[in-house]
Amino acid sequence: MEHRGPKRIEKGTPRIPPNLADYEALRRSFGWDDARRELAGLLGGGLNMGYEAVDRHADGPLAAKLAIRWLDKAGAVRDFTFADLKAQTGRFANVLKNLGVEKGDRVFVLMGRVPELYFAVLGALRHGAVVSPLFSAFGPEPVKARLTIGAGKVLVTTATLYRRKVEPVRAELPTLQHVLVLPDEGGTFPEGTLNLLELLAGAPEEFQTAATQPEDPALLHFTSGTTGKPKGALHVHDAVTEHRITGRWALDLHDDDVFWCTADPGWVTGMSYGILSPLANGVTSIVDEADFDARRWYRILAEQKVSVWYTAPTAIRMMMKAGADLAKQQTFPALRFIASVGEPLNPEAVFWGLDAFGLPIHDNWWQTETGGIMIANFAALDIKPGSMGRPIPGVEVMLAKRDEAGNVSPVTKPGEEGEIAIRTGWPSMFRTYLHEEERYRKCFAGDWYFSGDLATCDAEGYFWFMGRVDDVIKSAGHLIGPFEVESALMEHPAVAEAGVIGKPEPVAGEIVKAFVALKHGYEDTPALHRDLLGFARKRLGPAVAPREIDIVPTLPRTRSGKIMRRLLKARELGLPEGDTSTLESGA
Ligand code: ATP
Ligand code: MG
Repeated sequence: MEHRGPKRIEKGTPRIPPNLADYEALRRSFGWDDARRELAGLLGGGLNMGYEAVDRHADGPLAAKLAIRWLDKAGAVRDFTFADLKAQTGRFANVLKNLGVEKGDRVFVLMGRVPELYFAVLGALRHGAVVSPLFSAFGPEPVKARLTIGAGKVLVTTATLYRRKVEPVRAELPTLQHVLVLPDEGGTFPEGTLNLLELLAGAPEEFQTAATQPEDPALLHFTSGTTGKPKGALHVHDAVTEHRITGRWALDLHDDDVFWCTADPGWVTGMSYGILSPLANGVTSIVDEADFDARRWYRILAEQKVSVWYTAPTAIRMMMKAGADLAKQQTFPALRFIASVGEPLNPEAVFWGLDAFGLPIHDNWWQTETGGIMIANFAALDIKPGSMGRPIPGVEVMLAKRDEAGNVSPVTKPGEEGEIAIRTGWPSMFRTYLHEEERYRKCFAGDWYFSGDLATCDAEGYFWFMGRVDDVIKSAGHLIGPFEVESALMEHPAVAEAGVIGKPEPVAGEIVKAFVALKHGYEDTPALHRDLLGFARKRLGPAVAPREIDIVPTLPRTRSGKIMRRLLKARELGLPEGDTSTLESGA
């Protein structure tokens, strides 16, 4: 696609040498056992994520190093060293032990980003339990559905969240034996729950981390629900092999970095890269309790001297909406690497990074199912704005077509579209969709996992996202990826965000229809509407440009910030909306 701005951003001279300096050489030589050898491991061949994240450092030279700096909503700061984390997670693990929780039992957490969430997640992993995080904004039904699928035995939450989300459905959760609650300040304490703070205070710090094996289950993550009912993807302790090394390669984490991953631990990015990867790498992380606020985020980046920042297109779009002037009121001398995941990153956003921070944004691609970063733009390679980059070493990606009967034919020509397929065998691959074995099996053909996303690959091996298989538009014999159309619309000065769908039409099969939300200061007028149609036509040509554009106040989004094209389509066509458990309220 043609976009304004350079087609290639040369890697330049990074301030410090990238960890992954010679991509081609490492791709040739790397095997996953090389990454496993860099872990501490447990005696007898065991492996435990919690141990890699906490004990390993607390028992060595990094004990007094800052592990997590927590910023509360009001602006107070609490610091936790690796030694502190070991003590607190040890207490939590002992609480579980005293309650009779066993290895493999499921411990759910439903909390905002408070320190106890981190103690609970890491403590439960050290104990050998399986952790399942729930996003704190879920209502009672999504909470119930996930606790039921996962047969949750323990739930860790707060008094407020318990009253609003769990109490109404508690009687319908027969597997749930213990609810550990963080009391509200000055509030009453809910009946039928245990006081988390009292339990922690009464439990010893000393805890011998469980001797789990690499293939033992560790995490249960529910997908974002963008395309339908969320699936419960189960991951094993060996996933930390991947979390750790991809933090070094794709996020370029170095020992002295201050890292900020803005994703909530209720989603896979917030767990894999907001908790496990930086800790396993012995790197300091920032955790912010508050929700998105452009001014606050710029302040955190500046004041906390964040050097590596991992965020998402939805946040970047909101910052763009707030204007680059806000960014320019401060300087960010410490910031040296920015990465993004979760949705396609429009070229416009990459250029905005250059404008606001003097740094390009490195897009990377992965899914709940892959457990870790699979395709990335690396510090030592040029960026092609709009491309997701290249596969990480150790992972083989092919593009292929699959027919109804399951026949697979690889795509060989550069620029031809195919479904992203990954050769099985990477450590953080999901091991099942809980209670949906059939659906799990359907993701595989031979040695390959099929992702459900379509892309193209150019002659230099860079991958370009087109859209989800379900979202791709077939119009008059053309296959059109919504991303391409959305990116073109985003280049119009009035457009803050865009969502594109295929709308059935008798002649073309489908026509391209766009929904756009405007930036502050722009109004929905017939002139602007005409201008948008003309602008898109000029950029994309008549075959690909949207035939219809609706200007809307906002686009429906998942709570993790992804545009829900299936809802745009259902609403447009008057069809049932399907599962909306992850829909952001008010959207
Ligand atoms: P569900 O599977 O329930 O519909 P979901 O696929 O949105 O939800 P996640 O696993 O959180 O749940 O998201 C992974 C998906 O997000 C990918 O399959 C892809 O469609 C999209 N995605 C992630 N990163 C990128 C990226 N860099 N570029 C384009 N798309 C991306
Ligand atoms: Mg998915």
